[in-house]
Parts: sequence; C-alpha cells; structure tokens
Amino acid sequence: MTKKDVDILIVGAGPVGLFTVFEAGLLGLKCHLIDNLDKIGGQCAELYPEKPIYDIPGVPFQTAQQHVDALIEQIKPFEYEISLNERVDSISEDSNENNITQWRVATSDGQEFITKNIFIAAGAGSFEPRRPPNIENPDALMENGVSYAVQSKKRYENKDVIIFGGGDSALDWTVELADIAKSISLVHRRDAFRGAQHTEAQMRELVKQG
Ligand SMILES: Cc1cc2nc3c(=O)[nH]c(=O)nc-3n(C[C@H](O)[C@H](O)[C@H](O)COP(=O)(O)OP(=O)(O)OC[C@H]3O[C@@H](n4cnc5c(N)ncnc54)[C@H](O)[C@@H]3O)c2cc1C
Repeated sequence: MTKKDVDILIVGAGPVGLFTVFEAGLLGLKCHLIDNLDKIGGQCAELYPEKPIYDIPGVPFQTAQQHVDALIEQIKPFEYEISLNERVDSISEDSNENNITQWRVATSDGQEFITKNIFIAAGAGSFEPRRPPNIENPDALMENGVSYAVQSKKRYENKDVIIFGGGDSALDWTVELADIAKSISLVHRRDAFRGAQHTEAQMRELVKQG
C-alpha cells in the first residue's frame, strides 16, 4: 500500500475538480485528483464529448471535449497529479492536532493519502446508466444499436434514431442529431419536458417542420 501526503485531495476529475486545481495553484497548493473513469473530464468527456455547450460565460460555443481540453490547458502552469481508474472508497479521520484534522483517504487501488483538505467534486457520482425498467437485460443490445450516451455523433449519421427520455439530454440530442440522422423519434411518457425551455422550443419547431 502506497501512502502519500498531499495539500488537497480532489475526488473527481470533472470540470469542477479540474478548476479546483487552478484555484489551488493560485494559492501555491498542490493537488492530487482521483477519478473512477479512465479519462479526465467527468460527464463532459464520458457522456457527451461532441455535444456543443452554449452556456459558459464568455464562451459562445465549445464542445464538451473542447471545454475539458481548455481546462487541462488552464491548469498546465500548476503542479498536480492524477490517478485514473481508481475510486475513493473511504475517508476517515487520521489525527487531530490543535483542532486541525488530518484525513486518511483510501482508494480501490490500495493507495492511501493523508491530507488536511479534501475537495469532493464527485458531481453525479460514479456513472451508471439509467436502464429502462420494463425491458429485460437491455445491455444485451449494447453495441447493437442501443446506447446510453452519445460518444460519437458520426455513429448516428443517416440512421433512424429513437431517443427515450424527457430531460435536457433527450432534448439536446434531439436537436443536435436532427441535422445528421435520417429520422428522429423522441419518446416520452407525457407531453411535458424537464429540460431547458429554449431547447424544448427548438425540438417542437423541428416536430412542426416534420
Ligand atoms: C448529456 C449531458 C449534457 C449536458 N449538457 C450541459 C450543458 O450544455 N451545459 C452545462 O452547463 N451542463 C451540462 N451538463 C451538466 C454538466 O456536465 C455537469 O454539471 C458537470 O459535468 C458537473 O461537473 P462536475 O465536475 O461537478 O462533475 P462530473 O462531471 O459529474 O465529474 C465528477 C467525476 O467524479 C468522479 N467520481 C465520482 N465519485 C467518485 C469516487 N468515489 N471516486 C473517484 N471518482 C469519483 C466521476 O467518475 C466523475 O468523473 C450536461 C450533462 C449531461 C449528462
């Protein structure tokens, strides 16, 4: 078991974890990021790398992967380490001197970190697809037309696409894939959506246009 002392231990290397490295770097503090995924970038890199993001202040357009790449560029001046494919399994108090707690953080790979500061940037947690409840073993169809995230838009070129869901993700992809798919059917249990109103309006406009 390896044991390391770090200034700040960050759980999660998504956008928030990455920007924490920047802010800590300005204060002269060194971070160690740990992420369960095999890549940096959290939801952006894993779930929607090619989707455009329009709501970053001062950045009119960036794909999610470009956003992650920009964050990685932004933290280049600072010293940090990163462990991927590794989950933080436990956090416990190691010692307490003069009211300052030292924390012990243990990971799935058997690493142990001792730190005064833990920043939990775990976002939506470790990702698990939300499987449809009424279909027996939907994962059996994965790679054969069924997917839980759009990792490459090219895959849907000239295809008949059926999107299940009524939130931001379903609406975003309906609008985004409309230009390249042969057809899109959005299936939701009611005629009301939980996503951004602007995107819902774009989707309804597409429906009107047929
Ligand atoms: C399809 C989709 C489209 C979206 N579009 C937009 C958009 O256009 N604009 C917008 O502002 N937001 C959008 N979002 C939301 C946005 O992606 C999230 O708000 C953002 O990723 C949150 O960043 P984060 O760093 O807090 O967490 P996350 O990106 O969730 O990253 C958290 C990381 O922590 C890791 N982790 C969790 N628990 C552990 C553990 N115990 N040990 C190790 N690692 C752990 C996870 O593996 C993950 O990599 C979208 C989300 C989705 C799914």
